[in-house]
Parts: sequence; C-alpha cells; structure tokens
Amino acid sequence: MYSDRLRLLPSYLFITLDRKRKELEEKGVKIINFTVGDPDLPTPKHIRDKLKEAVENFSTHRYPFGGGIKEFREAVASWYNARFKVALDPEKEIYTLIGSKEGIGHLPIAFLNPGDIALIPEPAYPVYNSGTVLSLGKPYYLPLKIERNFLPDLDAIPHNILQKTKLMFLNYPNNPTSAYPENVVEVFEKAVYLAKKYNFIVAHDAAYSEIYYPDKCKVPPMSFLAVNGAKDIGIEFHSLSKTFNMTGWRIGFVCGNKDIIAGIAKVKDNYDSGVFTAIQYAGIAALTGPQDCVEELRKIYMRRRDVMLKCFQNLGLEVYEPKATFYLWVKTPKEYTSESLAEKLLDDCGVMATPGSGFGPSGEGYLRFSLTVEDSKIEEAAKLLSKVKF
Ligand SMILES: *Cc1c(COP(=O)(O)O)cnc(C)c1O
Repeated sequence: MYSDRLRLLPSYLFITLDRKRKELEEKGVKIINFTVGDPDLPTPKHIRDKLKEAVENFSTHRYPFGGGIKEFREAVASWYNARFKVALDPEKEIYTLIGSKEGIGHLPIAFLNPGDIALIPEPAYPVYNSGTVLSLGKPYYLPLKIERNFLPDLDAIPHNILQKTKLMFLNYPNNPTSAYPENVVEVFEKAVYLAKKYNFIVAHDAAYSEIYYPDKCKVPPMSFLAVNGAKDIGIEFHSLSKTFNMTGWRIGFVCGNKDIIAGIAKVKDNYDSGVFTAIQYAGIAALTGPQDCVEELRKIYMRRRDVMLKCFQNLGLEVYEPKATFYLWVKTPKEYTSESLAEKLLDDCGVMATPGSGFGPSGEGYLRFSLTVEDSKIEEAAKLLSKVKF
C-alpha cells in the first residue's frame, strides 16, 4: 500500500515511552511533560489583537498565494536588517512559510536528485532527515559531540562525499543540544568555503535566534547570512513560533539567495497556497511591534533554567550549560542509557524528558528537557526529582 519512499521514513522513536505515559495517566498518575519544545505561554496581546482586526477585513479571507504580502516581507526585511545587519530584498530574497518546518521539509525536493547527498548534523531536529529521505536523497550525518562544543567537524568530511553533496543543514542556537558555541562563526565560514568549492547549498535553521540567555550570551546569536559570501550559496530559516509563542499559528520565513528561494517557491506554489493573510498581518505586528515581550520571555526561561540547573546539580547530574534555546541537555549517569533513564524518571516521579538518542545516535547518553513548562510545574518537578535515587 505505501510507497517505497514512505517506507524509508523512520518511525516514531518514543513509542515505548509514550505508551508508558498513557498507562500511567490512565492510572491517575500526574505527568510533568518536558518533552515537547512548544511554548506554554500565550502569544502577546498586541499580536492577538492584530489578528482579530485583520480577520474583520474580509479581503484577508481569500487565497493568500505566493511568498507573502509585500508588507510582511518588508517587515521581515527591516527586522532582519535591524537585528542582523543583513540587507534583504523583500521581493526576491524572502519567502513566507507555513512555519519553518514546512520550508525545511520541502527544500530537498527542489534540490536533491535521487542519490544526492545532504549533510545533516546529528543529533538534530528530525525534519532535515525526513525531507532528505522523502526526496530520495542520501543523508551523510555530521556527529555533534561535546568535545567540539556540538559543532560538526567539517574537515573530517571525505572528499568523495563532498563531491556528491548538494545540501548542508546547520542549526545554531542548536536543538536539541542547546549549544551556541562562541566559535560558531568559524564553522559558518568553513561551510561557505566548502559550499563554493563543491557547489552545494547551505541551509541554516535559525528558529532559536531570539531565544538566548542575556546573562550567558552577551552578543545575541548571529545570522548565517552575515558571513561573507553566505548569500551566494545559502539561505536561513526563521520562525515566529518560538520568539512570539506562535507555534500554533504557523508562520515563518526563509531568506537568502534568490535562486535558492525561487526553487523553494516553485515547490510551494505547486503544493500550498500560502499563509493566511490575517496571520501575516499579525506577524507584522510581532516583528514591528514592541519587543519587550521577547525580553520578558528570555527572563522567564532564564528563571526556569536556574531552577532546573540547580535541581540537576543537586542530583549530581551533568548538564551542558546553555547559552540559548529553551532546552537543557542533561548527561545520563553511565549506568543508564537515554531511554532507560527517561523511563526511570517517568516511573519514579512522573517527570517526562526526551531521550537524546531519539535525535540521532550521538544523542545517546543525554536527555533533553524543554523549559516550556509552566513555573509552578517546574518547581514541582524539581521537588519530585530531588527524591530520585540513582
Ligand atoms: C521548532 C523548530 C522549528 C520549526 O518551527 P515552526 O513552528 O515550524 O516554524 C524549526 N527548527 C527547529 C530546530 C525547531 O526546534
């Protein structure tokens, strides 16, 4: 019944854990869920208000089509220039996406022929891999190890692999490791160099560019496109989801090289009809409105981070110190695998985290905790965890 390419897609990795969660919940056990990276707080009011107003403008009800209304793309361009000091042509270098996941998933269709290689970091957001596999491309994994600050070793990629490479994915600040290494710019520069030499595309996922910790990250995360020559070979994916608590709204954008954007546009124009125009107006309010809501959000994650870091420290668990993202990447003690520790925490105290191994083999030995859990539950989880015996 299913196509060969669908069968190539990996199946969901957390089946055991999720089955266990359901069993426990049926027995009435309260679960505190740290697995999903989905902000718990509401979208700021001025953005919600803008949507209401835009919905009453009936012209927004028709097919949006294409890369977004001019005003949204202009808002993106001015936000981008103010934030990253990178100039973008709103018409040719920006395309609105139904959430960045959609664009990331569709990108490989535009550029990979069967057998072409995509360089994919691991552990990673699963869509780089699924998009590649569904396009019959071949993933070549770049392990992210703590010894290298979770940066890939681009010098270790064999010449014959680079020759067949059409696409490379990068993601900083990084999900799931929470890394934003100071020397990320060196990897960006090397990626540009290799992409030009071997003629491939670099796609940088900047979904967490605004979710950083002001006390640890003195300079806000940079854009890949700010690197010399990056726009010749690269694009960057952005999302309003994490920055403005808008995961459910489905709006993001891709920007950068106009020919690459045109390829994505061609796929999308055949597949979908764009982002609801009223949501684009709300997106303009998000990008051009007051930004103190984002500053406030960073402070909230900072408080939650401190509660959980202290809790893990008291437990004697090693945690990578995050500079950005709302994740904590926690090392499992050697007696445990990612899965067995996740299962133990769920059994012993109803605290649920994602096994790092679900993001790729190099994630083995870690658990990912998402701080998108309300404050009171964070406090409660910290108390429950403090009683766990290893
Ligand atoms: C959340 C996330 C996205 C996708 O967000 P959208 O809601 O689809 O815009 C993309 N990349 C990473 C790494 C993410 O964590």
